[in-house]
Amino acid sequence: MERYSKQILFSDIGMEGQNRLKNSKVIIIGCGALGTVISNNLARAGVGYIKIVDRDYIELSNLQRQLLFDEEDIEENLPKAIAAKRKLQRINSDIKIETEVVDVNSRNIEKLCSDMDLILDATDNFSTRYLINDTAIKLNIPWIYGGVIGSMGMLTSIIPGATPCFRCFMPKPPASGSVDTCDTIGVLNGITSIVASYQSTEALKILTGNEKSLIEGLLYIDIWNSDFEYIKPSKKEDCRACGSEDFEFLERAEEDAISLCGKNSVQVNPFSSQISVESIINKLSSMDIEVKKNSFFLKFEIDDVIFTLFYDGRAILKGVTDLNKARTLYAKYIGY
Ligand SMILES: [Zn+2]
Repeated sequence: MERYSKQILFSDIGMEGQNRLKNSKVIIIGCGALGTVISNNLARAGVGYIKIVDRDYIELSNLQRQLLFDEEDIEENLPKAIAAKRKLQRINSDIKIETEVVDVNSRNIEKLCSDMDLILDATDNFSTRYLINDTAIKLNIPWIYGGVIGSMGMLTSIIPGATPCFRCFMPKPPASGSVDTCDTIGVLNGITSIVASYQSTEALKILTGNEKSLIEGLLYIDIWNSDFEYIKPSKKEDCRACGSEDFEFLERAEEDAISLCGKNSVQVNPFSSQISVESIINKLSSMDIEVKKNSFFLKFEIDDVIFTLFYDGRAILKGVTDLNKARTLYAKYIGY
């Protein structure tokens, strides 16, 4: 326990809290700017089981704020979840870390979250947050929302049955294209670290039974303009999620193509998750296309579009923003 001695000295945690952390299971959805800091803090704090889920691989533009990754990870073409696990297990080999390199969607989210004590939102998009909110209420698991853009960030802890849920204060997702994204206004690494540090501290409170110390309402921070505010939303009786338990996002069919925030990329989800790696390689080789292969995906480039094809059939096409063009390219070079 020497490893955690400074944390055990902190009286609200103590030895009892430390033991509770050891027996806790958390899932971190997304392993980018927020997810790397949250997983780093929770692994060092001794949370016994951490599941990291991320659909993406590491790129140079991630290194400015995604604190677990380095240039070697990019050279090795590693998915974010895999690179994060590798680094975290070097930091703490006593805990169990599991990874899933998948897109979190309505088909798999309940299974991913089912026996977890806590869900941490480290995503960059609203559709996954509404999905997390539905799942958390349905499975009665607390979750911690965090979102960051530019120099601003926001977070709150949502305890089903006790606090307002995400839909109580944001009943509907914003219309596509109506909100700023990291693509349009960028993001500073100071604010991602702050929001993720708050999220991981909220996690420690929940996991050690210190819910009384949770942030009340939404905390909003602007690190550039020195703004710090608490917004106190109230629980809505007619909330579709926590009021009537109508889980519309969980019941919604998955989109077959979505554009990815900040990446000039489209993700294509195939109808079937069976792909024949050999026949795809043969087909592309016969067209004189060079295919790189590692344990996680195939990578190839056609007309300035970089294809990353995961072995479950999901592909990220970089260099395309039009969903239909991405579908067409997928059908042409990978095939449905
Ligand atoms: Zn609600």
